[in-house]
Amino acid sequence: MTATVESFKFEAEVQQVLHLVIHSLYSNRDIFLRELVSNASDACDKLRFEALERPELMAGDQELHIDLHVDTEAGTLTVADNGIGMSRAELIENLGTIARSGTRRFLEQLSAGQKADANLIGQFGVGFYSAFIVADRVVVETRRAGEESGWRWASDGGGEFTLEPAEGLSRGTRVILHLKEDAREYLQPWKLRTLVTTWSDHIAFPVSMPVFKDGKPGTERETVNQAKALWMRPKSEISEEEYRAFYKHLSHDFQDPLAWTHNKVEGNQNFTSLLYVPARAPLDFQFNRDERKGLKLYVKRVFIMDAAEQMLPAYLRFVRGVVDSDDLPLNVSRELLQSTRQLDKLRSALTRRVLDLLDRLASEEPDKYRTFWNAFGAVLKEGIAEDHGNRERIARLLRFASTRSNGPEERFSLDEYVARMKPGQDAIYYLTADGWNAARNSPQLEALKAREVEVLLLHERIDEWMIGYLHEYAGKPLRHVAKGELDLDRLGEPVARPDSGADREIADEAVRRLKDLLGERVREVRVSSRLTQSPSCLVLEEADMALHMQRLLKAAGHEVPASPPVLEINPGHLLVQRFASETDPARREDLGLLLLEEAILAEGGALDDPAAFLARVNRVIAG
Ligand code: ADP
Repeated sequence: MTATVESFKFEAEVQQVLHLVIHSLYSNRDIFLRELVSNASDACDKLRFEALERPELMAGDQELHIDLHVDTEAGTLTVADNGIGMSRAELIENLGTIARSGTRRFLEQLSAGQKADANLIGQFGVGFYSAFIVADRVVVETRRAGEESGWRWASDGGGEFTLEPAEGLSRGTRVILHLKEDAREYLQPWKLRTLVTTWSDHIAFPVSMPVFKDGKPGTERETVNQAKALWMRPKSEISEEEYRAFYKHLSHDFQDPLAWTHNKVEGNQNFTSLLYVPARAPLDFQFNRDERKGLKLYVKRVFIMDAAEQMLPAYLRFVRGVVDSDDLPLNVSRELLQSTRQLDKLRSALTRRVLDLLDRLASEEPDKYRTFWNAFGAVLKEGIAEDHGNRERIARLLRFASTRSNGPEERFSLDEYVARMKPGQDAIYYLTADGWNAARNSPQLEALKAREVEVLLLHERIDEWMIGYLHEYAGKPLRHVAKGELDLDRLGEPVARPDSGADREIADEAVRRLKDLLGERVREVRVSSRLTQSPSCLVLEEADMALHMQRLLKAAGHEVPASPPVLEINPGHLLVQRFASETDPARREDLGLLLLEEAILAEGGALDDPAAFLARVNRVIAG
């Protein structure tokens, strides 16, 4: 019988990834072995899991293992496993297309003109395709557990691959690498041994290689890794290097993790957890609130599933790691998992572990904590709204820029703020704004600045929503400086004087005239206690949504209840004084509208009619 060889074209994205991988990971090419051994280990995990229901899948071949084979004459290195294997359809799907949405988005970003570098690609776990960094031809022979016959897939990393039936294969997968001329070093025993021990020591299945005699691989084999699940080993016996290597295996991240916490809990609940905080967010992280990966659930050493969603709240979705439970049933399903009470306990225990780890980082390694905050601070903030029980703990981990910062990157904790509060100050003051500059230069801050009262500058999008859930910290209420009336008397006299002394009559006249002129456009006009430098500003009532938030929601097509702002004016300012005393009606109108328009602009808003505004400015300047 002549076997039929079919040819297939790689999906366009695969070609793109192949090209990128081959060209940008060259200096990192050792990683191919880690990726292939990692896949083999996953395949063994999957088989062990499926065999829980269908023990016959493992019949006759119970011991799962991964073997490296070397053929110095043919110049091939083979990574073989007796795991789950792949059916024909799985082969085409897994090795011919790119299923992961993250990779797709990554490619979209690249085509938007971003330069590819090894780090970026590494975040997506190029996995199998890394074989082509060292091989100019890759053959995959595989037989799915439970199927009679197998398949041979082959490609030279160009645009195509071939597929044909293959007889006589044992269960599992063999990835045969025809090494490039300059990659022959991977046939050397010392090289293989080093790679396996540095990168695959933690793999829970034995990884073996041939014993070499006179420079040639013999038939005798030796196991080169420890072959014990890393998390089950005592902490004292695991080196930092091993922890880091395990993280890379789990996360496909090239970079070292920032920190980790490894715990064994015995008593009411019995489980072991090893949780990592990465040093940076994967490229597609912020889009992926729903697609959560990276926390693997094992039951008694058997891999069950990726269960990040069930085991940690969404605001900790940056955590990677493993949880190995001794209590859950081996046949636990996603549905069952959702409804077990044990899981609630597990979840809160894990949450506590992560928060403990972050506390430790924040207090003992502030530089690392800063790195963490830059990468995941915005995600952690979601916890303020989502995790009522841990709100105070999460609040302690928050970092904000303030009027004392030299730039948006200089952030402080609420504890630091509270420790610096002035005598008589009984609230934590903050301002929300659409961006750092809008926050920093906001007229609303003037009176507080003049009294040297520190104000937190919340200039990120999530802040407005988050702060709505944080009403107090350490017994101190949080107050928005642009909302409601500010009671400044308690905070002492301003250190800097306002522009000039305000005249009560001028103030009253200006307020009366503005009310007439602006009508419905403002809810109220009043004399400000906030301003020392600017002529006017907008303020809201306590319950109002911040103006930049209203704009954002409107832009996104939401119905936003109209709540016109309050206009506050500074009678000490020359513009207000001129407005109050102007006798020419046209000029008075110009000045009055400018007071409103300036306040809108200062707050980051857009004017309905910018051209009319400019015409007014020009008329006023021309006198
Ligand atoms: P990833 O492992 O990140 O999903 P890869 O490109 O490395 O991406 O592999 C793609 C898919 O191919 C895997 O998800 C898996 O389903 C399948 N696969 C790869 N190697 C093996 C193997 N040795 N045995 C069984 N399936 C495999």
